[in-house]
Amino acid sequence: MTPSLQLIVAGGGIGGLAAACVLARSGHRVTVLEQAAAFGEIGAGIQLGPNIFRMFDHLGLTQAVHDVAFFPAGLGMNDVRTGEKVVRVPLGETAVAAYGYPYGVIYRADLHQVFLDACRALPQVVLRTASRVDSFEQDRGGVRVGLAGGEVVHGHALIGADGLWSRVREAVVGDGKPRVSGHVAYRAVLKREDVPPHLWSDDVLLWGGEKTHLVHYPLRRGELFNLVAVFHSNKYDEGWNTFGNTAELNERFSQAVPPVRELLGKIETWKMWVLCDRDPVKNWTDGRVTLLGDAAHPMLQYLAQGAGQAIEDAVVLGEALRFCRGEVAQAFQHYQRVRYLRTGRVQLTARFYGEIYHAAGVQRELRNQMFQNGAEAAGFAGLKWMYEGIAPHQLFE
Ligand SMILES: Cc1cc2nc3c(=O)[nH]c(=O)nc-3n(C[C@H](O)[C@H](O)[C@H](O)COP(=O)(O)OP(=O)(O)OC[C@H]3O[C@@H](n4cnc5c(N)ncnc54)[C@H](O)[C@@H]3O)c2cc1C
Repeated sequence: MTPSLQLIVAGGGIGGLAAACVLARSGHRVTVLEQAAAFGEIGAGIQLGPNIFRMFDHLGLTQAVHDVAFFPAGLGMNDVRTGEKVVRVPLGETAVAAYGYPYGVIYRADLHQVFLDACRALPQVVLRTASRVDSFEQDRGGVRVGLAGGEVVHGHALIGADGLWSRVREAVVGDGKPRVSGHVAYRAVLKREDVPPHLWSDDVLLWGGEKTHLVHYPLRRGELFNLVAVFHSNKYDEGWNTFGNTAELNERFSQAVPPVRELLGKIETWKMWVLCDRDPVKNWTDGRVTLLGDAAHPMLQYLAQGAGQAIEDAVVLGEALRFCRGEVAQAFQHYQRVRYLRTGRVQLTARFYGEIYHAAGVQRELRNQMFQNGAEAAGFAGLKWMYEGIAPHQLFE
């Protein structure tokens, strides 16, 4: 029998809520401390590889996700300057045949809501807003988590799911600020009726160019259309959620083919993200305190896996606690041992994929030639290790 523990999760993003859901279902009591005044997510898209659908299956959330997701027909790449097709990999049944699970895309807020609903259905989960974690202490018996404002919350363990700028990581790993990549992402979402039919695509379509790319795909059963424009820039403010500079964006895409410029012109206001990651680390645990999601292994978005890896973390954490019968310090060691090489591989491979998307000169020619010669294995099947995912029940056998 695993004893029921009182667990504290710092951060109510996708990773924190996924952890709360997994841990409460294992019989633990979980308090989620979210700094924002309300639970919510910004409006933007998230791609979900087959490895993440495998986790939804494990969590019994497949139907809830299917109800709001969109399932693209293919994953394609075109050259942004010439419009030529570089590669297209069919998804749909092909992805299911290859990996056992589909490839989908979802509105971030919808995915967050799926986890929020799952948590609200569990009486053992306490969801708190306006609760910013400021500090923590631990001893052999438990943790005391200090909130901004002075309140102290007691528990048996703390899971820092507080994202890229994690306060918990500062104390546990202490490796300074994240690495600013020099790349920025501008994101916007259009309603279906605002996208002219000749610009609509049911694919996840990436237009790659020198130090730039645009990716677009439908969301929410095809009712919305997500656009993400990425380019190298040194004009940015640190942090998330600022507004983009449309003049700079247009200048960066001035050489793009007309459909791309036309699409970009449909957006009046962009939200901007300064893209950061970190070098992988082997240890993100200290006794009764561990990290999860972006707090543990922030990655560039080029493989579209950050949220997915956070969800995998949550599942593995649940399995580790079960395996160690609630011995938290031991379970946290098992959890990070199983996770650090896989998440580190995604972090490093994502950087490499950024180079591929933004290639110029001979690199670009080589990329196009390799993909066009049918070597999509290099692009999609080459990621088999990632999309096949993890088998939760076999991790600690
Ligand atoms: C442009 C872009 C595109 C992306 N595309 C994809 C994609 O297609 N697929 C994919 O899987 N991933 C994608 N990602 C990555 C994904 O968004 C992140 O990896 C994911 O959101 C991480 O979730 P998280 O819960 O770990 O952190 P976050 O989402 O950052 O959540 C952290 C939460 O903690 C709260 N918090 C912070 N500090 C404190 C504190 N001190 N006390 C209490 N609460 C606190 C925050 O308010 C927030 O709610 C993308 C990222 C970007 C920037």
